[in-house]
Amino acid sequence: PLPTVAIIGRPNVGKSTLFNRLVGKRLALVDDQPGVTRDRREGDATLIGMDFRVVDTAGFEDKDVATLPGRMRLQTEAAVEDADVALFMVDARAGVVPLDEEIARWLRGTDTPIVLVANKAEGRAGETGVIEAMALGFGEPVQLSAEHGEGVVELFEALRPLI
Ligand code: GDP
Ligand code: MG
Repeated sequence: PLPTVAIIGRPNVGKSTLFNRLVGKRLALVDDQPGVTRDRREGDATLIGMDFRVVDTAGFEDKDVATLPGRMRLQTEAAVEDADVALFMVDARAGVVPLDEEIARWLRGTDTPIVLVANKAEGRAGETGVIEAMALGFGEPVQLSAEHGEGVVELFEALRPLI
């Protein structure tokens, strides 16, 4: 079986945008199962000739907002547990927010290798966020623009030794 890479992080950082870019088609293999798995999408990814299974977490609906933190934590932890590598994505433009720090705490106990990714890093607007992200405890982030396809080689280089 292919190695599995889970994309995790708080809502709106760009996880699904990266998923779609890696899988190369929109809404690949949407899972209609009820419950937690409903929010999980999986697809076969290719990154510069390296093949892996990629898992996109979340996709929260408005009616679930009240229970969002609990569900997000369960889903994030399950995805990380099942994955060979977790991409922990933050938003370089927004900078580090308390929920990012909370997720970082959840991740500290895991054996799964974590690759920190600072997305939305196109242009200069992300510089402060990249520096803030270094304080999360997962080293220097891979700077990425999932939307514009920047940082793909750096992402490849970060993943290659781990899968
Ligand atoms: P998710 O909730 O983490 O899955 O985030 P989405 O993939 O749904 O993206 C949230 C928003 O961020 C959308 O409006 C995207 O268009 C935007 N976005 C995603 N990647 C980038 C990026 O690299 N740069 C910028 N500027 N915006 C992005
Ligand atoms: Mg999403």
